Amino acid sequence: MGKKNKQFVEKITAMEDDFAQWYTDVVKQADLVEYGLVRGTMIIKPYGFAIWENIKDELDYKIKETGHSNVAFPVFIPESLLQKEKDHVEGFAPEVAWITHGGDDKLAERLAFRPTSEVLFSDYYSKNIHSYRDLPKLYNQWTNVVRWEKTTRPFLRSSEFHWQEGHTAHATDEDAAQETDRMLGVYADLVEDYLAIPVLRGRKTEKEKFAGAKYTLTIEALMHDGKALQSGTSHHFGLGFAEAFDITYLDENGESQFVHQTSWGFSTRIMGALIMVHGDNRGLVVPPRIAPTQAMIVPIAQHKEGVLDKAYDLRDRLKDLVRVDIDASDKMPGWKFNEYEMKGIPVRVEMGPKDIEKEQVVLVRRDTGEKEFVALNDLENRLPALLDEIQQNLFDKALAHRNEKTSVAKNMDEFKQTLEQKTGFIKAMWCGDNACEEKIKEETTATSRCIPFEQETVADTCVCCGKEAKELVIWAKAY
Ligand SMILES: [Zn+2]
Repeated sequence: MGKKNKQFVEKITAMEDDFAQWYTDVVKQADLVEYGLVRGTMIIKPYGFAIWENIKDELDYKIKETGHSNVAFPVFIPESLLQKEKDHVEGFAPEVAWITHGGDDKLAERLAFRPTSEVLFSDYYSKNIHSYRDLPKLYNQWTNVVRWEKTTRPFLRSSEFHWQEGHTAHATDEDAAQETDRMLGVYADLVEDYLAIPVLRGRKTEKEKFAGAKYTLTIEALMHDGKALQSGTSHHFGLGFAEAFDITYLDENGESQFVHQTSWGFSTRIMGALIMVHGDNRGLVVPPRIAPTQAMIVPIAQHKEGVLDKAYDLRDRLKDLVRVDIDASDKMPGWKFNEYEMKGIPVRVEMGPKDIEKEQVVLVRRDTGEKEFVALNDLENRLPALLDEIQQNLFDKALAHRNEKTSVAKNMDEFKQTLEQKTGFIKAMWCGDNACEEKIKEETTATSRCIPFEQETVADTCVCCGKEAKELVIWAKAY
């Protein structure tokens, strides 16, 4: 036996022992990412990028289906342009990477590498919107952005990341509000239906909203360790940018009006959610709908006559039905089992001489490890059905986990106790005062995740100050 046949997959840290290390191990061992040369940057490797592309392609389809057009704006933002909207520049200033030189020459004006592109679109809209007939403007771009983060982790927080950012302009506040809702809905459906991750939908508090927005809508997911991850946001800008950039149009009566704007973004951060919601101690678990390879054929005793031929026949039979691949390398089957479990491929298809004799294959699910024998002539039925079952099971498991880790707190003692015993979402009433929100963060490190659309009354008084409560807020420690 050759040396390479003995290289079984390296072990990963158990998530119960050290969740952060488990995450780092999975990212590396599943071959998703390598660290870039500049601190906080990452190289997304082929397998990681293939998963992201499947997510991206589906989202791109939905973005176009809802009437938006893709565009590409420059990476550079002149400093004077970034300064135009006060809240916005304050929000992003600490994270901006500046370009000061072109070759050896110092630039007359510093250029920001875009941390986000609101000001570029606003400047463009101010020059290209004239009449109510020009509205709505529904633009989206797929780009990378740079935010100079102090502490970074692959996918979750990196100095450069990939995303899409939608930027729209509308005639009325109501139109912009509908757009903000619509795109949050697109994100929520994508994450629930394709990534099998249940999300809470709601509005951010004033403190947590996007810099320069009238309000921000968010979807929030719960990770396996009980921490929340903001998974997509949609902002209603009201007139903030329109006034700062003088974006006006003539309405049907010939009167000048400001436009109402939105923006919405969804990033590679979602890869972090994918890992931390579905992953286990054997590695990544990829929901079938976004898996680059849904079924991996592993021939058993492939040196025996006829096995490889049959395995390739099987691949050819299935390839129009599911995303299927075959590993006919001379590595041991045990190595292959570990490798594709680590990569989270939803189904392993085993086929050896005995199976060929019995005209069957063995299907092994990644999510539960269950094995089943399936007659070869039933495979076209069974395999797609099994992939659907896995997709559903992953969602159900994640939802059950979220429910189990969601608690109610009526006062600060309960809040702190709950957070210690069972990290997760905490439902608690809030008076609406920023001071209470600050205090909760200071004393517990939990932040307000959202004011959920689905409101309920779990108490009459604010969890923090005891005054009359205004609304239910979902709190959690967060990434
Ligand atoms: Zn209060």
